[in-house]
Amino acid sequence: MNTPKPIGTDEAAAAHAVRTHCAIDYPGGPRCLNCHAKFPCDTHVAAVDFLLDAGWDDAAIMALDVRTGPWF
Ligand SMILES: [Zn+2]
Repeated sequence: MNTPKPIGTDEAAAAHAVRTHCAIDYPGGPRCLNCHAKFPCDTHVAAVDFLLDAGWDDAAIMALDVRTGPWF
């Protein structure tokens, strides 16, 4: 079993933003669950960029989405 990478306060905030600013299906294209902007919203993009700069890989970022299934 993989041990989760320890994260600092800022990374925790970015990870939280990725989790909460996630895509949901809308007529006309996916939208952000949190702010309802076209997905990916500015907050999601900024948080993903932050995590990539902090050394996270795509799989680790995708794993933040702990919903029981894709909503789109
Ligand atoms: Zn959003």
